[in-house]
Amino acid sequence: MKKEIEFILTNNETIREKVYLLTFETDKLIKHRAGQYITFEIKGQQRAYSILKTWENNENNYIQLLISTWPGGVASQEFEKIDIGQKLIGYGPMGRFVLKKNNLKKVFIATGTGIVPLLAMAKRVKEQKLDINLRFYFGIRNASEDYLSEMLKKLQVGYKNIKRQICCSKENKTLESPYRQGRVTDALRHDILDQDNECEYYICGNPKMVEEVEKILKIDKQISADNIHLEKY
Ligand SMILES: Cc1cc2nc3c(=O)[nH]c(=O)nc-3n(C[C@H](O)[C@H](O)[C@H](O)COP(=O)(O)OP(=O)(O)OC[C@H]3O[C@@H](n4cnc5c(N)ncnc54)[C@H](O)[C@@H]3O)c2cc1C
Repeated sequence: MKKEIEFILTNNETIREKVYLLTFETDKLIKHRAGQYITFEIKGQQRAYSILKTWENNENNYIQLLISTWPGGVASQEFEKIDIGQKLIGYGPMGRFVLKKNNLKKVFIATGTGIVPLLAMAKRVKEQKLDINLRFYFGIRNASEDYLSEMLKKLQVGYKNIKRQICCSKENKTLESPYRQGRVTDALRHDILDQDNECEYYICGNPKMVEEVEKILKIDKQISADNIHLEKY
């Protein structure tokens, strides 16, 4: 039987409109592989949330999640009105979309909160002092929606091998690097070299984007399927 975990909300920070960085105290430390998720039981329904990080402090255990309420369903409505001290029941960790153990360069591709497991993976690479190149492609509509750059700042301290491309699909202004116009798919078509199997590709977020990127990598760029890992939200 799955073991229940109790989550108590201790902090709620608004990252941008309807996107929240939530910290919960848990009754045990959730030992997870980078990329895994937990599920919450909300109004009789299960919803998955990727683990950004977990830690212990003064014998208390914590987990941090990044949750968007844009979908507007049952879980979104609950997270819009959640209060500090409120308790949720959940399970985990689970999931097979995890950082593989190798020294290949990593290309992380995401839209929306699909960035969460990829940030967890980058943090793990840094902790392991692997010193390999990490490149993020983050798809948003307008440059003002970028929260990745801020979230990456801490990771970049003492780890210079992290680059980012912020792809803005609806931006009309002229943009400067790392911002660029177009979708992540346009950027990848342009940037990825054919048969570049010195890299591993982790893709997460909107199912349509994930499928399109997978097609570009496998068919157009002839990248080996072994080097492509994906999770659809
Ligand atoms: C492995 C995994 C990890 C995830 N990690 C994260 C994460 O880290 N952060 C995060 O924010 N999200 C994450 N998600 C997404 C999350 O699990 C939820 O799907 C999300 O929070 C939306 O839940 P919801 O109940 O608000 O919406 P849902 O009820 O699931 O609705 C989703 C969409 O369907 C529409 N819809 C619902 N019911 C109907 C209906 N009857 N008819 C037509 N349309 C309908 C809604 O309007 C909405 O657009 C993850 C998903 C997976 C699979």
